[in-house]
Amino acid sequence: MNIKSLLQRIQNTFNPQEELQDEVVVKFLQVLESIREEEMSCSEMYAHIDEFVEREVNSNDAKKIMPLIQEHIDMCPDCCDEYEALLSVLEHTKE
Ligand SMILES: [Zn+2]
Repeated sequence: MNIKSLLQRIQNTFNPQEELQDEVVVKFLQVLESIREEEMSCSEMYAHIDEFVEREVNSNDAKKIMPLIQEHIDMCPDCCDEYEALLSVLEHTKE
């Protein structure tokens, strides 16, 4: 089993209608890389925060899919501010 089919299974559990995108696989691998090296840094966080917030607004499953980002937001006040700012912007544009 390769990493993509593994992720597809996970995806099917949460979102059976959606097809897994290669982009998601790549991001997952990037996250794995960052775990191996160290905890997520603020710059890595910024690279993923848009997606995280978008996911949170659209399907409310960001914490499940990207737990590392959530973890970072919880312990880093700067990124938490950024997250909250982005979240309120996105929630307003959604309306
Ligand atoms: Zn941070």
